[in-house]
Amino acid sequence: MAEFSIIDTYFNRKNFSAVDLGVGDDSALLTPPHHHQLVICTDTLIAGRHFPLDTDPHAIGWKSVAVNLSDIAAMGAKPHSILLALSLPQIDHDWLKGFSQGLYDCCDQFGVSLIGGDTTQSPHLTITVTALGWIESGKAITRSGAQVDDLVVVSGSVGDAAFALQHPKHSLQKRLDYPTPRCELGLMLKNLASSMIDISDGLAQDLSHILKASNVGAKLELSQLPIKPDLSHLPENEQWQYALAGGDDYELCFTITKQNYQELLRLQPNVTTTIIGEITQKSGLIFEKDGLDHPLQFHGYQHFA
Ligand code: ADP
Ligand code: MG
Repeated sequence: MAEFSIIDTYFNRKNFSAVDLGVGDDSALLTPPHHHQLVICTDTLIAGRHFPLDTDPHAIGWKSVAVNLSDIAAMGAKPHSILLALSLPQIDHDWLKGFSQGLYDCCDQFGVSLIGGDTTQSPHLTITVTALGWIESGKAITRSGAQVDDLVVVSGSVGDAAFALQHPKHSLQKRLDYPTPRCELGLMLKNLASSMIDISDGLAQDLSHILKASNVGAKLELSQLPIKPDLSHLPENEQWQYALAGGDDYELCFTITKQNYQELLRLQPNVTTTIIGEITQKSGLIFEKDGLDHPLQFHGYQHFA
């Protein structure tokens, strides 16, 4: 089966909304809403590196979209469409069917259209998704806006995916395979958060990107980290390790004034949010346990790499 037949069979559903021209021509055409900026990001998943080779193709399809929508959400933007660059070692119809279904399921859940891509043969299964979204001009939430005394807040729970990676067949596996991009929360934070990032490489490392870009520091309270009860049998240090250094959470970490945080709660986002600390003048990331200094070492860091 040739390239065009793969595209037509698996990647050419005509369910576009707000797309002038989708799959089938040399390029897709979109009309940006007035006074908006285009928000674009891309992420590659390589078989054997970003997911085990035997991962359910449906989950791979879902995740390849979800990780990109998470980046769009982290800007406070609304996702609109995606492009898919797919490199396949061979044509495997069962795999393509599951993968395309997972990809479209994630698209449908978040109101996103697949508008184009590229299909090639290569020895390694590689999936690159590019996501496009819109935001009112000047409203994007970057990493550089954190202010001293802002609260540091995180959505959902952290460490689940890293724990699942080490404990195959655990019920938290779905958090690793089917991450939920926090699209609704990201949109709500558009006029409220001072800075934001999505957590893909571990909370501590990703929060450090905000601190560096904003030229501030932060103090985190370890007892406030939102860690699932599934991890509560572990020694505290190990739980913190998963929560702070585990990857693949795809939660949002943001900074916000106390007043704006109250405003967010009034809007009743569809995911819990937890205050885990505050922004400080002094640079660096420090940890406290019940209000007392509690230096941490991430000795197991490579474990999760
Ligand atoms: P070109 O040779 O002009 O780059 P292609 O033959 O690669 O065009 O692709 C034909 C059409 O199919 C284009 O509209 C392209 O965006 C789309 N397309 C190709 N591969 C995919 C894919 N994996 N998913 C979605 N659309 C795709
Ligand atoms: Mg091409």
